[in-house]
Amino acid sequence: MAEYKCKDCGETRTLHKRSMVMREGKLVTKQAECDCGTFMDQIITKEYEGIPDIQRNELNTGHNSGG
Ligand SMILES: [Zn+2]
Repeated sequence: MAEYKCKDCGETRTLHKRSMVMREGKLVTKQAECDCGTFMDQIITKEYEGIPDIQRNELNTGHNSGG
Protein backbone atom coordinates (compact mmCIF):
# COMPACT_ATOMS: atom_id res chain seq x y z
CA MET A 1 0.00 0.00 0.00
CA ALA A 2 1.33 3.40 -0.94
CA GLU A 3 0.11 6.95 -0.72
CA TYR A 4 0.39 9.34 -3.60
CA LYS A 5 -0.16 13.05 -3.87
CA CYS A 6 -0.65 15.26 -6.87
CA LYS A 7 1.58 18.32 -6.76
CA ASP A 8 -0.70 20.16 -9.12
CA CYS A 9 -4.12 19.95 -7.47
CA GLY A 10 -3.28 18.37 -4.12
CA GLU A 11 -5.39 15.29 -4.70
CA THR A 12 -4.28 12.24 -2.72
CA ARG A 13 -4.78 8.61 -3.51
CA THR A 14 -3.96 5.35 -1.77
CA LEU A 15 -2.89 2.65 -4.12
CA HIS A 16 -3.13 -1.00 -3.16
CA LYS A 17 -1.91 -2.25 -6.48
CA ARG A 18 0.60 -0.63 -8.74
CA SER A 19 1.76 -1.29 -12.23
CA MET A 20 4.58 0.50 -13.97
CA VAL A 21 4.12 1.80 -17.47
CA MET A 22 6.28 3.78 -19.86
CA ARG A 23 5.09 7.33 -20.41
CA GLU A 24 7.11 9.84 -22.38
CA GLY A 25 10.23 7.74 -21.97
CA LYS A 26 10.10 7.15 -18.26
CA LEU A 27 8.55 4.67 -15.88
CA VAL A 28 5.48 5.90 -14.06
CA THR A 29 2.88 4.29 -11.86
CA LYS A 30 -0.17 3.79 -13.99
CA GLN A 31 -2.66 4.05 -11.10
CA ALA A 32 -1.03 7.24 -9.86
CA GLU A 33 -2.30 9.29 -12.78
CA CYS A 34 -4.43 12.06 -11.37
CA ASP A 35 -7.73 13.17 -12.83
CA CYS A 36 -5.99 16.40 -13.85
CA GLY A 37 -3.50 14.43 -15.92
CA THR A 38 -0.47 14.85 -13.67
CA PHE A 39 1.27 11.84 -12.22
CA MET A 40 1.21 11.89 -8.44
CA ASP A 41 4.36 11.64 -6.36
CA GLN A 42 4.63 8.92 -3.77
CA ILE A 43 4.47 10.13 -0.20
CA ILE A 44 7.29 8.53 1.75
CA THR A 45 5.92 7.83 5.18
CA LYS A 46 7.79 6.62 8.23
CA GLU A 47 5.77 3.46 7.95
CA TYR A 48 7.04 2.93 4.44
CA GLU A 49 10.66 3.46 5.44
CA GLY A 50 10.30 1.26 8.46
CA ILE A 51 12.24 3.71 10.59
CA PRO A 52 10.44 4.65 13.82
CA ASP A 53 12.66 7.59 14.66
CA ILE A 54 14.82 9.51 12.23
CA GLN A 55 17.86 11.17 13.72
CA ARG A 56 18.53 14.62 12.44
CA ASN A 57 21.44 16.93 12.97
CA GLU A 58 19.39 20.03 12.51
CA LEU A 59 20.09 22.50 15.27
CA ASN A 60 17.43 25.05 15.93
CA THR A 61 19.16 28.17 17.14
CA GLY A 62 15.93 30.08 17.44
CA HIS A 63 17.40 32.83 15.34
CA ASN A 64 14.76 35.23 14.14
CA SER A 65 15.59 38.21 12.03
CA GLY A 66 11.97 39.21 11.75
CA GLY A 67 10.15 39.49 8.65
ZN1 LIG B 1 -4.08 16.46 -9.90
